[in-house]
Amino acid sequence: MAQKHLVKLVCTVCGSSNYYTHRNAKSVTEKLELIKYCKKERKRTLHKEGKVKSS
Ligand SMILES: [Zn+2]
Repeated sequence: MAQKHLVKLVCTVCGSSNYYTHRNAKSVTEKLELIKYCKKERKRTLHKEGKVKSS
């Protein structure tokens, strides 16, 4: 099994968790920071990686 971690992308402006994605822990070491569209604010904002609790 490849080591994949489910992470969420959290809007740094309003704190909404707008996106979920997988990241490979081996190839990606730095935290994700992406400009994404925030539905709540209806504009593009910086989203940062946040942890998702595994069930
Ligand atoms: Zn937002």
